[in-house]
Amino acid sequence: MNLSTYKKSILLISISSCFFLLLFFALYSYTLKQEKSDYEITTADFKKEIESLLKSNWASYENQIEDMSFWDDFVKYTHQKDEKWFDFYVGTAIDVYDLDLVSVYDLKGNLINAKTRNNSDKDIIPKEFFPLLYQKKYLNFFTKHNNRVYKVFASTIHPSNDPKKTLSPPSGYFFMALCLDENYFKKLQHISSAQSCAIFFTDIKPDSKNVQYTKVLNNWKGNQIGKFHFSKKHHRDFTTSKIILRVIIIAFILNLLILIYFFKNWIYKPLQLVTTILESVSNHKNIKKLKKIKGEFGHIGDLFEDNNHQKLKLINAKLDAEKSDKLKSAFLANLSHEIRTPINAINGFSELLLNTKTTAEEKKEYLKVIHKSGQNLINIIDDLIEMSKIESNLITPNYSAIDLESAIKELFESIKITINPLKEIEFILIPSEHKPLHDIITDETKLKQIITNLVTNAIKFTEKGTVTLGYIINEEQKNIQFYVNDTGIGINEDNLDKIFERFRRIESDLSIKVGGLGLGLSISKAYIELLNGSITLDSILGKGSKFYFTIPLEYETRKPKKIKKNKAIKILNDIKQTILIAEDDNINFLLFEKIIQDFNYTIIRAKDGQEAVTICKKNPEISLILMDIKMPVLSGFEAILQIKPLYPNIPIIAQTAYSSEEDKIKIEKAGFTDYISKPLDRNKLKQMIATYLNGHS
Ligand code: ADP
Repeated sequence: MNLSTYKKSILLISISSCFFLLLFFALYSYTLKQEKSDYEITTADFKKEIESLLKSNWASYENQIEDMSFWDDFVKYTHQKDEKWFDFYVGTAIDVYDLDLVSVYDLKGNLINAKTRNNSDKDIIPKEFFPLLYQKKYLNFFTKHNNRVYKVFASTIHPSNDPKKTLSPPSGYFFMALCLDENYFKKLQHISSAQSCAIFFTDIKPDSKNVQYTKVLNNWKGNQIGKFHFSKKHHRDFTTSKIILRVIIIAFILNLLILIYFFKNWIYKPLQLVTTILESVSNHKNIKKLKKIKGEFGHIGDLFEDNNHQKLKLINAKLDAEKSDKLKSAFLANLSHEIRTPINAINGFSELLLNTKTTAEEKKEYLKVIHKSGQNLINIIDDLIEMSKIESNLITPNYSAIDLESAIKELFESIKITINPLKEIEFILIPSEHKPLHDIITDETKLKQIITNLVTNAIKFTEKGTVTLGYIINEEQKNIQFYVNDTGIGINEDNLDKIFERFRRIESDLSIKVGGLGLGLSISKAYIELLNGSITLDSILGKGSKFYFTIPLEYETRKPKKIKKNKAIKILNDIKQTILIAEDDNINFLLFEKIIQDFNYTIIRAKDGQEAVTICKKNPEISLILMDIKMPVLSGFEAILQIKPLYPNIPIIAQTAYSSEEDKIKIEKAGFTDYISKPLDRNKLKQMIATYLNGHS
């Protein structure tokens, strides 16, 4: 049976209720039966008691009348009608037996003598009755007179020798009558358990509270003249038991209703909520309702909420993963394009140089293209490395005090000269209204990188018009707001937030033409946040964009501490000096060799860090070491640890493919005298060697 928990519980409640009701009604009907049988038994006992009481009471009268009715003197009296004799022998019975009437009639039905308590009682004997008495000899009956009922005992009078009254004819009629009145009732009540007795001439109302017995009173003709009614309290009263049983059933029904009501509210409704929540995808309203219920269901509500949050997180993570997957695919396609462009240029122009006859002018032009393409490639790689460092949280700000005004001017000039003169763009630096009061503390390299990224974008995405750069010092809010405005292609509203996501680019003819990896803004944003700042932008599609970013304004209060470079050790020597080049890559070594061969130096090569250490130990005449950082066996960092204690005064220059600020700090800390980044800048290398070997700069 596929029943819900609620239905099962209701079924269980119904079955147990039915069982209870069955028991209850069995008990109730047993009580009613008990009550009935108890009443019947008590009534029967009462009837027996009253009947035997009446019988014994009336038997004494019957015996008396029988005894007196075969008596010679009484026969004689019926003839002589001696009233004195009557008063003395018969009339006294009225007091002895507490009667109401004693009377004697002759055979003709004429009253001879009568003795009564009440004069009107004389006429209670009906004349028509005499013939019947003549026949029957003894009779007793009830008669009604003046609304009073009498028990009449009647007998014919015979001589003593005829006790059975069969031998002689009657000589008269003898009557004794007893009025069934209050006095009589009192006497009966006194000697019986009856609490009330009375004569009724009408119907008697049944009364279940009392035990009753009613005797029908018939006259001599056998007609009913009234009822003799006895009653007493029924001591075993079942009313209380019945009330208790009724209260129990009402309480049970109430209890059942309350049970169903609370069961519905506490179990059914929460279960319904749980089902609805589980069936629907997101159901905040129902979860809220469930949470409000105290106890387990509230806890389930909390769990649902947690679960929903996790579900949401998972969905978001999935969406993010999908988005990032898409972005990565787009990025790879883009990267491939971005890398191929300079490589194509390098390949194409170097092939032209190799395979065609070129004038000196053309050669210079081709080499310039190759050089520029190489630079572009390096920029791409730098951005990629920077982004991966940002993602791995490896970037920390490197604060120093800078003169903001001159730093911005310097940056402005350096960007300005890179703008293609063919572009109809005016690049303007808006002077700040309030100049900073002192040097400010920030990460100069990162700040310059952010501005460069924004300005480069502004120039890239503006065909014609102006690009403005400026900053506002807000002393009150303690921040500096930089802005880069352009009159370029602009960005539509939907993409305003998206452009800060890594690898995100807005596809347009211009963006395809100018290229880019979609990393510049995300790197800038990460830098700004690193400096505790924020970036926003306003842009109108087709009209231009305004990028704003703020960083905290913090003045240098101490004397600015110049970051010391390791002291350049200048060795002035006329003899041919030896340079150790520790470089595992053959092409890089060749490049070094070619650049250095113009000078009069002896060059020794080490192919890994370990070899560099060994050579140093063997050749104390070495004057300068150019050490690659990333080498097999021992890295540059490990090798310097062994070389430095041996030759603390030899300048050791690190060559590195990484050029971030962090790398620079790491190199400085390791004890390198200076560093040069790859790809090698010929002039810089020459100048460096000259500086450290000969003291020229
Ligand atoms: P990239 O410039 O290398 O594509 P960025 O992260 O610097 O990557 O910029 C992301 C995208 O934002 C760009 O491709 C371009 O679509 C849009 N964008 C950035 N700056 C501007 C600007 N000044 N005007 C119009 N679009 C811009």
